[in-house]
Amino acid sequence: MYKRQYLDNSSTTKPYDEVLNVYEQTSSRYFGNPSSLHRYGAETEQLLQAAKNQIKRSLGLKKYDIVFTSGATEANNAALKGAALSKIKTGKHIIATSIEHPSVTESLEQLKELFGFDITYLSVNEDGFVSIEDLKAAIRPDTVLVSMMHVNNEVGSVQPIEAAGEVLKEHSNILFHVDYVQGIYKVPLAIEKAGIDLCSISGHKFHGLKGTGALIVKEGTRLIPLITGGSQQKGIRAGTEHTAGAVSLAKAINLASADFDTRLDTMTAAKELFMKRLSEIEGVVINTPQMNCAPHIINFSVPGIKAEVLLHMLEEQDIFVSTTSACSAKEHKPSKVLLEMGKGEQIAGSSIRISLNYSQTSDVAEPFMNALRPGIKKLREMMR
Ligand code: PMP
Repeated sequence: MYKRQYLDNSSTTKPYDEVLNVYEQTSSRYFGNPSSLHRYGAETEQLLQAAKNQIKRSLGLKKYDIVFTSGATEANNAALKGAALSKIKTGKHIIATSIEHPSVTESLEQLKELFGFDITYLSVNEDGFVSIEDLKAAIRPDTVLVSMMHVNNEVGSVQPIEAAGEVLKEHSNILFHVDYVQGIYKVPLAIEKAGIDLCSISGHKFHGLKGTGALIVKEGTRLIPLITGGSQQKGIRAGTEHTAGAVSLAKAINLASADFDTRLDTMTAAKELFMKRLSEIEGVVINTPQMNCAPHIINFSVPGIKAEVLLHMLEEQDIFVSTTSACSAKEHKPSKVLLEMGKGEQIAGSSIRISLNYSQTSDVAEPFMNALRPGIKKLREMMR
């Protein structure tokens, strides 16, 4: 029997104990409604403000507001629909990459169907990268919004966000949204320098809690709110604030930011070992790019063996990985991202994603390979 290995950290991570503690303490001690005028309210409001300031400090943000959301799906919806609808009288053209998360593409498709927006999806090359030249060529006088994910959740490719930001600085009427969910505290991104107007993050991807996240909004950006009601969060997201969630998010960011460089080196070393060992197995195709790639994602295919079959075989050995992203896994379809990368049905239907967390070192590679090698052999024999 192998030691249990959770290698599905891009789907979600285990919360830090400190995050759970702070959530519990905030819930019981600061239960006041931040909008209340009495002391209970004022104390809770102060705590919310402190959480915002902490997040802004950790991410090096000066001229930005933090809007707490229920996660990145909500943040992406709020950013895209809110920005597009605020600009509807100026133009109805949006640009995005063809490998965005469904919370981006489904929002854009709704804008298309319900409001007549025209969406240009930038194609990616075989390594999962868009080209800046394609972005430049796609910009039109009626373009109002560009949405580009930072790190792709399935293969780990890191898009040229800073270069895209430079291009967009020439177009003051275009808002720039970045889905930073898989990149935060994995791949540095200078949000302010890159000229990003809207940026989505999700707590449960870095040892925070599910149901916590934020939309980072550059000061002065006009958004039509998705959720209307009271004047909480400057009217961008009505509803009594989830104070304990906000504080727990700030705590997770604080913990994730500590000792970042050392962790980066550890994750990179572990990933390199995985890539090396995988490349030694005959017939295994590595889908993760060699360069400009996040340190925690390794994606490979074993053509001829369905991803789900391999996943469950590894599960029998107490090793937990994923096929496509968790949000698409139950559709049982080949990976759309890999198809967009031109990998073909065979590779896209047999891809496995390993995703690491901060505490996993190179030590996790060998036990994984010791389960994978005989597993592939056995499955190949069964199929003969
Ligand atoms: N964007 C990306 C790139 C993601 O990986 C995810 C989570 N699978 C999301 C958005 C959605 O985040 P949440 O689970 O917080 O709604």
